[in-house]
Amino acid sequence: MGKVTGFKEFDRELPSKRSPEERIKDYKEFNLMFTEDKLNNQAARCMNCGIPFCHSGCPLGNIIPEFNDAVYKENWEEAYRILSSTNNFPEFTGRICPAPCESACVLGINKPAVTIEEIEKHIIEIAYAKGLVKPKVPLIRTGKTVAVIGSGPAGLAAAAQLNKAGHLVTVFERDDRAGGLLRYGIPDFKLEKWVVERRIDIMEEEGVVFKYNTEVGKDIQANQLLADFDAVVLAGGSTIPRNLPVPGRELKGVYYAMQFLKQQNKRVSNIEVQEEEITTAEKDVIVIGGGDTGSDCVGTSNRQGAKSIVQFELMPKPPVSRTESMPWPTYPMVLKTSSSHEEGCERSWGVNTKEFIGDAEGNLTGIRIVDVSWETDIFGRAIKFSEVEGSERILPAQRVFLAMGFLHPQKEGLLEQLGVELDERGNVRAQEGLYQTSVDKVFAAGDMRRGQSLVVWAISEGREAARRVDQFLSGYTALESKDAEN
Ligand code: FAD
Repeated sequence: MGKVTGFKEFDRELPSKRSPEERIKDYKEFNLMFTEDKLNNQAARCMNCGIPFCHSGCPLGNIIPEFNDAVYKENWEEAYRILSSTNNFPEFTGRICPAPCESACVLGINKPAVTIEEIEKHIIEIAYAKGLVKPKVPLIRTGKTVAVIGSGPAGLAAAAQLNKAGHLVTVFERDDRAGGLLRYGIPDFKLEKWVVERRIDIMEEEGVVFKYNTEVGKDIQANQLLADFDAVVLAGGSTIPRNLPVPGRELKGVYYAMQFLKQQNKRVSNIEVQEEEITTAEKDVIVIGGGDTGSDCVGTSNRQGAKSIVQFELMPKPPVSRTESMPWPTYPMVLKTSSSHEEGCERSWGVNTKEFIGDAEGNLTGIRIVDVSWETDIFGRAIKFSEVEGSERILPAQRVFLAMGFLHPQKEGLLEQLGVELDERGNVRAQEGLYQTSVDKVFAAGDMRRGQSLVVWAISEGREAARRVDQFLSGYTALESKDAEN
């Protein structure tokens, strides 16, 4: 432990951000870096608890007190070694993870938690700057081949780990670049794309082969893949969005969030947009859905110059903040405000959409909504809603983005051809911890298996699935696991 009294001496601080007025002028990341003394003080706040709950709070099992200690001592090599032993891509999680580790931080009982996510980002960026992050080509090749379908964080983590174990890994990606939602979902202002490309370059140097513009199930038949490879990892994500089939859904101006976000990611990277252009300049924008995807639509709409932005959530408004009488460990379940909301947006809770309204040409002009009130169960969970009489109204809207989550992976093509068993929700059935599907030598990881989730879970699943594949191919595995008994 670096400084025994650090948690008493120093308050939690975050690096400064560019102001909302300035940052909406571009798509660059807006979180700035700590100065070295500030980083040092923040790491010193870690109490090195007897039982570090942050370890289990992190889906990757990151060894947090140890890397905080190394940061405090400015031992960057050691900090990077510890962090990279559990996380292949700290540069992603250090930027966009909701940091469940911080919700589990014991200091959070009576003071703000240690700023673990920022420390993680600093360790990896300092490691890159100091030349510590180098491609590691495996010394021995096993001669076994693995196909990974999908290059999102789950597929990338599985590929990196399996390559490290000496297998020959090919990643198939239907898009023209790697990264999955890191590349073509999450906006640049949260994660600039050079960060993803920098990691892909390293993986290529390590020997991972990427095949782009290749949809398995369409461009290559699943049977061919089974014949060509010794094992297959399905990491195709949860890509089918939830629809809102109310009258007027077909109007021009109502889009799925991903149709909008993917285009803007392309524009920022100077990649040609071939589909119908969807933009929000001078438009009244309604975002339906209060999660990360919705917030990303808000931030993107602001940057494109929207006239007004309203974000709806069907669920009731959650408690405002932990300071309002909500002690740890309940406070992680409170209202989240994303950086996009600071940039300008009206938020409404308990609102249901009844109809999209259009003009004679089929263009969206407005949206009919109604307030709803929720009945709760004995645990305070919202279970049933009813309309509030007299609250129905029409708001002007020329753009609506549906950001109400994703249902399950695409079934046509790859999954149907494999005949893989699905669970009740339509995700690929494979038990957590084992990752083996109903089809021999086919494994699954990430959102395709667990349903829509988080980047940190995708990386965790990719790593753990890789261990199972390695065991299957080699009869044993030396790859690390977050579970000691695994
Ligand atoms: P994905 O990232 O979805 O990658 C799947 C890849 O597989 C895609 O590239 C797809 O093209 C490819 N693919 C699918 N089928 C085939 C096929 N048959 N052949 C070839 N390729 C195929 N999480 C966070 O932790 N923090 C955030 O801030 C955050 N923001 C988000 C914002 C948005 C807009 C969205 C949509 C999600 C966000 N998430 C966030 C969730 C996070 O991005 C996902 O949980 C994570 O990316 C899932 O990783 P994955 O590898 O399982 O799948």
